[in-house]
Amino acid sequence: MPATPAWPPRSLPRLFVSQPLAGGAAVELDAKQANYLGNVLRLGAGAELLVFDGLSGEWLARIAEAGRKRMTLSVERKTREPESIPDIWLAFAPVKRAQTDWLVEKATELGAARLVPVMTQRTIAERVRLDRLESIAIEAAEQCGRTRVPQIVEPVPLRRFAEDLDPSRHLYFADETGGEPLASSFREGPTAILVGPEGGFTEEERGFVRGAGASAISLGPRILRAETAALAALSAYMALAGDWR
Ligand code: SAM
Repeated sequence: MPATPAWPPRSLPRLFVSQPLAGGAAVELDAKQANYLGNVLRLGAGAELLVFDGLSGEWLARIAEAGRKRMTLSVERKTREPESIPDIWLAFAPVKRAQTDWLVEKATELGAARLVPVMTQRTIAERVRLDRLESIAIEAAEQCGRTRVPQIVEPVPLRRFAEDLDPSRHLYFADETGGEPLASSFREGPTAILVGPEGGFTEEERGFVRGAGASAISLGPRILRAETAALAALSAYMALAGDWR
């Protein structure tokens, strides 16, 4: 039996486009996307792909014109309605750049609706580049089949984040000094999970986060790295109260 050819890839390429999509629409790709389709995947006029705009679901499109640096798609029909994702926010103290990038990529795959960088007393992150994190989230959404890209908001001081949170959103904070076991904690409904920096939360921060109504949760007896803790808590939420059930 002949070996399965590795080329061309079996699934259609998926691209996020920033313009609103509709049947019959023409979409002008940016130079990076045109280069990816034309030069990396070697697709030309007539080739099919999937596109999504973060709002209207997923669409089948076809390359209408392919130039050296430009490409135009023609949108044909809707292939999927917008996904329904649990209303779960992940608030995290940014860590080093590579680990923060990894956290954003994996949290997108796991289904976070919103990512909130929070600045805590012990946060020692380099500058948070939102545009970079957004690109990482878009690539992860393209790869994992999401039709929405998580919203990534400007970094916010921890106290403001906790105090401004709508009371209908339940806030859980991962506390390495002890808290409720996860299995009996998570409830359905709007939720935010907060994870601290490598140095942990200060006592003062624990106090005002609790004062803002947050519940402390434990992720077990081992001290996890901040990014591991964030993704472990998000996974557990998806399994216990999110869309993995
Ligand atoms: N510097 C702290 C220490 O030595 O105890 C550890 C902080 S930990 C590396 C970073 C963050 O991950 C914590 O602030 C907490 O939010 C979360 N975390 C890590 N392990 C955890 C656990 N077992 N239970 C709950 N949260 C945990």
